[in-house]
Order: sequence, then C-alpha cells, then structure tokens
Amino acid sequence: MTHPSIVILTGAGISAESGLGTFRDEGGLWAQHRIEDVATPEGFARNPSLVVEFYNTRRAQAHDAVPNAGHTALARLQREHKGEVLLVTQNVDGLHEKAGSTDVVHMHGALNSALCSTCDHRWAAPLEMQVGEACPNCAAPTARPDIVWFGEMPYHMDRIEAALMQADIFVAIGTSGNVYPAAGFVQMARHVGAHTVEMNLDPSETVALFEDTRPGKASITVPAWVDDILDS
Ligand code: NAD
Ligand code: ZN
Repeated sequence: MTHPSIVILTGAGISAESGLGTFRDEGGLWAQHRIEDVATPEGFARNPSLVVEFYNTRRAQAHDAVPNAGHTALARLQREHKGEVLLVTQNVDGLHEKAGSTDVVHMHGALNSALCSTCDHRWAAPLEMQVGEACPNCAAPTARPDIVWFGEMPYHMDRIEAALMQADIFVAIGTSGNVYPAAGFVQMARHVGAHTVEMNLDPSETVALFEDTRPGKASITVPAWVDDILDS
C-alpha cells in the first residue's frame, strides 16, 4: 500500500515516561483518589473544590512535563507521511502539541481548557482554576475543567468513527483497553479490514484483537514503528 490512512489512539502510557502517572501507577495521583470522587459529574457536584484542586495539580504537572521520543515520533509521522494520519488521544496533558503535533483529536478533553456548564462556552483555563469562576460568555459561576468524566460522552466521536471507517492501519499506544468507547476502536478498524497494531508496556485487555503487538516502552517502540512506516 503506497500511502495508507492511519488512525492512532494514544493513552496515558505514552506520557508515562514524561513523568505523568497512568491510572494504575502505584502511589500516583490517581492512586490517592477514587475515580468516583474526582472524575465523575456526581463527584464534582458533591465536592467541587476537591475536583478543581485535583485538576489544578494535574495541570501544573502537565505544564512542567516534557514530551518524550514517542510523542516526537508521532509528530514526525504527521509531518512526513503522505497519507492521512488522524491522531486521537485520551490524554488531557497537551504533550502531543508540545512535541509539534497539530490537529490532535482530544476525545477526553484537555487540561488547558475550561468549559461553562451553563452555555458550553470554552476558553483557555488559567493554571489555577477557582471553584465557581464566572464564564466569560454568560457570566454564570459555572466554570469546570474541560475534561470528559466517566458517564459523559467523549468528544469528536463522529470524526473518529469516520476516520476508522477509512483506515488502513489502526494503532493503539499506551492504553489499557478498559475505557469505552476507545477500547472498541480496534473492533471497528478490523471490521473494515485495517491492519491493527498495539504498542503497550503490558498486554492490554483487548490485546487478542490486534494482529501485531509490539510490547515495550513507548519511547522505544513508537519511533521504531514510525521508521517502519516512513521507510515502507
Ligand atoms: P491506563 O492508565 O488505564 O493504562 C495505561 C496503559 O499504558 C497500561 O496498559 C500500561 O501497561 C501502559 N504503559 C505504561 N507505561 C508505558 C510506557 N512507558 N510505554 C507504553 N505503555 C505504557 O490509561 P488509559 O488507557 O489512557 O486510560 C484511559 C483514561 O485515563 C482516559 O480517560 C485518560 O483521560 C485518563 N488519563 C490520562 C492521563 C494523561 O493525560 N497523561 C493520565 C492518566 C489517566
Ligand atoms: Zn457560560
């Protein structure tokens, strides 16, 4: 195939070597909090300051973090590959953009964005968000982190599904395959006959659905795979 269409899905694992904890990391930020408390609309309604503080801490960490060779290799692929490349991420850390990627599809939102629950207006989040910050559009005191919480609908699903329907290659990097709908992308890709590749430290929940699995650290496996694609 000369210029295959590629859809890439990244998860927390690609940012692990940049010092940002995944869900499962022992002692990490996620280990100190229950998902129900910090990553659901109900948790936010119960204790907004806990949730705003949790994301303020994550925003500060992401602000200081530096992309690694995995992020950089994907930015290079986007620049140099002659076919379509759609980069979809579950990460909210902005490291793909820091590595030079453009047009990144943030299906779970972004730490550097704030969202008004009243009018859906979005704006650049300050490093430290405050509880009950006023919306610059409608003035309601209903600012929240622009993060897709459990129980909420991921963003840009139409665009992602359209790209999957055209994909020749689907690649999942650093994602545990626990969180739907992202965990179902491999099935959609297989349905249209795409070649499927997993790059993860440990086998994911959905590893059996991939034709090609490349275990290891993303900083090693991703640049090697990008070289393969660009050389083929
Ligand atoms: P996850 O924590 O469930 O799984 C991470 C996966 O990455 C694991 O399977 C692990 O084996 C693998 N991994 C760990 N280190 C790796 C490395 N160096 N190289 C390659 N793989 C490595 O993460 P997920 O699947 O992305 O979970 C989805 C949810 O986690 C999303 O909702 C996402 O928004 C959220 N999340 C995002 C961040 C971030 O933005 N950096 C961090 C934590 C969680
Ligand atoms: Zn508003």
